[in-house]
Order: sequence, then C-alpha cells, then structure tokens
Amino acid sequence: MLGTIIVVFVFFLPCSLAAGHEVLWKYGNTVHSGHQTVYGPQDWVQVSRHCGEKAQSPVNIDTVHRNSFQKLTFLKGFSFKVANMWRGLRGRLFNNGHAPTIKIEAGFGLLSGGPWGSDLYRLAQLHFHFGCKSSPKGSEHTLDGIPFSGELHLVFYNLKYADFNAAADKSDGLTVIAAFLEENRLDVSNPELEKIAHLMRNMARGDREENERTLLEPNLYSLVPQLTDLSMTPFFSYKGSLTTPPCYQSVNWIVLGQFIPANTYVMDIMRSLRNHDGHPLCNGFRPPQALNGRVIRGYVG
Ligand SMILES: [Zn+2]
Repeated sequence: MLGTIIVVFVFFLPCSLAAGHEVLWKYGNTVHSGHQTVYGPQDWVQVSRHCGEKAQSPVNIDTVHRNSFQKLTFLKGFSFKVANMWRGLRGRLFNNGHAPTIKIEAGFGLLSGGPWGSDLYRLAQLHFHFGCKSSPKGSEHTLDGIPFSGELHLVFYNLKYADFNAAADKSDGLTVIAAFLEENRLDVSNPELEKIAHLMRNMARGDREENERTLLEPNLYSLVPQLTDLSMTPFFSYKGSLTTPPCYQSVNWIVLGQFIPANTYVMDIMRSLRNHDGHPLCNGFRPPQALNGRVIRGYVG
C-alpha cells in the first residue's frame, strides 16, 4: 500500500539515520508501482546493505534456550540521570510521519555505567512503535515469542562522538533503552504516558510544523520508573542495529523486563496519527531478526 511510503531524508528518523539520498521504504510488503519501488522490511537490503548484515534488530528474546541466553544478576553502577543545574529536560513532541517522537532540545539525560563500561551516553530522542487496533502486535522486540502492544525507544548517543549523526554508524555509537507498552482495558495507564498522549491529540498528519508541541520537563522517571534505579532493574541486553534503514549495527540494546501500562485512550490517540500521505502510522515495527549466534544477556536478579 503506497499510503505507508516512507522517504529517507537527511533527517532525524526513529531508530534510523539519514541516507542522504531519496530511497523509499515502508512497513508491510514491497510494492512496485510504475517505475517506483517501495521496499518492505524483507527487502530493506535494497535500501541499505547494512539491513542484510548479521547483527540486526529487533530480535526475539528467548529466555529458555541457554545457547542464546545468559542469565546474570543485577548490574551495579548503572544509572540514568537528568543533569542540568537549572531545569529539567525540554522536549519537542512532533509527528515526523514515521512515529510520534520527542526530540530532547535542552538539558541532559545521561546514561552511565552498566554494560558499556565508562562511556557516557546522552539522550537524544524518544519515540513510539505500536500496532493497529485490529492487531495484537505492536512491539519490535518480542519476549519468548510474545509481542506487546507497543514499544518505547529512548535513543542515546555516545558522548565521545561530536553529535548523534557522528555516533550513529559507530559500533559503540548508540544505546537504545526499549520499554514495552501493554494495553489494558482496565483503564490503567502510566500517568506521564497519558500526559504525552494528550499532547498528541490533533497532531494527526506528519511533518507539519503546526503539529509540534513543546514538552516542558517531561518526567522520564515517571514515564519509565525503572530509570530511577537501573542497577536494580531486570533488563536484557545485546548488540544490534537501528530497526529502520540504514540499519547500522551501532546499537547496544537494553530491553527492560517490565512493561509500561497503557489504556485504550492512549493507544487510540497514537493510532489516530497519520503519515505524510494521510495513512495510519500504526503497525510500524520490523519483524524479529535472526540472532546469528549472538547471546542475549539477561540481568534479571
Ligand atoms: Zn525505534
């Protein structure tokens, strides 16, 4: 369906980076129309050769088979801190036509310690992947084969590089913390998520400036409570990639073991968002990729 065409521009894309040339990709099946081809995930290698490499994301986290899963204890000295003397973070919430995204515009959110040693990672943006109403699927990663309703990605870059773009293709360039969203019909929702969703209302079409919202001091500790103490948080980690073209294998993934509750109000607002062509953004997730010998470490207690 041409409605879900995504154009790779020189722009800050969710879990992806600009290719510099115009290439069309989408979720779902590859579509040929006239002289134009729009590539689905199974053909993204046509968009970027990296998408066909051996350490791609997302993956299924299989906690049962010991040849691909290593169980470890909690990791001490792993922390996320909002570091700004005068105020907290300031974000810009917008629909870029691919995902509802919050770009951090002021303040520092710093990730330190943990699986990646002494390097410091700075929070650049966060965004959401989610399914359509008719589908129970929505997350990119799956846990023992089970998908969740959605997945929040907090994207960090290694401060040893000048900026996000410089870090994005380096093997130690990025860290993404992933938190699953689980829809429930009990009207239980994370309050910060509800606040962000409320701001998304009437932001339907992608890439329109009037749709942007300034987000003063998003409370990430409330949005993702595990961030307050990562050294006591169950999570899974492995080395993988951006989940959209150009699929650079530059991401150290941290997938949290506890999900964020989301009610139907929140999920319906996200599902109402549209891409540049007016078609729904939902079902924006890449299928799990082969581990190809990688071992997922589970810091679970
Ligand atoms: Zn993502």
